[in-house]
Amino acid sequence: MGKTQETNTQALGLYVHVPFCSTTCDFCAFYQERPSKKGFEDYFFALERDFQDHSTDKKFSTVFVGGGTPGLLSAEHISKLCQLINRAGVEKNCEWTVEVAPNEIDQEKITAFLEGGVNRLSLGIQTFNQEFMDELGRDHKVSRALDAYNLVQKAGFESVNIDLLFGAPGQELSDWKEDLKKVVDLNPDHISTYCLTFEEDTALYAKLAKGKIAIDSEKEAAFYEWAWEYLPAQGFFQYEISNYSKKGKECRHNLNTWQMNEWIGYGPSAFSQYRGVRRKNSSNIEEWAKPLIQKSEKKYDEYVHLTKEDLVMDSVLFGLRVNMGINLEHISVKFGIATHSFGSIENFFDSLIEEGLMEKNQGRYSLSKNGRIRCDAIAAEVPELGS
Ligand code: SF4
Repeated sequence: MGKTQETNTQALGLYVHVPFCSTTCDFCAFYQERPSKKGFEDYFFALERDFQDHSTDKKFSTVFVGGGTPGLLSAEHISKLCQLINRAGVEKNCEWTVEVAPNEIDQEKITAFLEGGVNRLSLGIQTFNQEFMDELGRDHKVSRALDAYNLVQKAGFESVNIDLLFGAPGQELSDWKEDLKKVVDLNPDHISTYCLTFEEDTALYAKLAKGKIAIDSEKEAAFYEWAWEYLPAQGFFQYEISNYSKKGKECRHNLNTWQMNEWIGYGPSAFSQYRGVRRKNSSNIEEWAKPLIQKSEKKYDEYVHLTKEDLVMDSVLFGLRVNMGINLEHISVKFGIATHSFGSIENFFDSLIEEGLMEKNQGRYSLSKNGRIRCDAIAAEVPELGS
């Protein structure tokens, strides 16, 4: 079984948000725009300015292009985007991921990604069951998803991820087992499994509110537990509540984020955490683009000056989700906080150990299987530093 390493604390990530989607999936509450010629032109014009205005001397060690559906971009636009990223400066062994949806990917785009420097592709398949695919409002067919995977797999990316979603209305454990069996048969390098959430302002939430569908937390717990048991037994070691990979194929970009290192986000609604500030670009393409084009004052949806304590608490909370666990001594050195400030957190962790919800190995606290299933509730109870 592989072992996840802590990322280099000097690692700097780059995130680009491509906000276009051709349709809205029934579960999705992400900010998105319908694609249009003018939309793409404005986006690229402003994106170039965004890169100029937020440049850095340091090279990026990871890149993640997400959305939206970045695969909607034409091969020409993909090359342009890659040019902007390369110009911003990427390290030689940079992990460079792009999220794509099965309907949008073709050989021409794959070539543009590979030539641009992309080495990791993440394919949003979600399920291999057509009935649940339709239930989720995804606009691709299972057969199309399989074709897209074969195309991507043959192309020679260093790593390929498949995203799966569970907890669709009507989905039973046997269906989820079938989905996991199929994903293992495809043998990707990485698997992300997400529990369906019912966000306000989505078509699925409306069905929930009208009582047409219901949330079944016991079933969700059983889905989680089956994935935790089954995927590692098939050679996909779990390194986070929802993420599994072959040895050495963990997503470095996500680990960098969860370990509270730095990253810069470009594009509408992108988050950054850089030089003590966490900010979110405007989730409106016009509001994001206008000040970049007019060189006027930028508007952010969020702009927070971070203290060392904020970063420590977030490292602890994210640390609950990763199998590697939490080393309080490392966190104290990394953020320059005295170890005695962790007393209340250590006491809390010790009480979790007594309840069988946590384990401590070689100085690292990590949630046990019973603890992991209650991760959100446990995270809500973690005491403040020094309290
Ligand atoms: S889930 Fe992805 S593809 Fe579907 S609407 Fe949301 S951002 Fe677009």
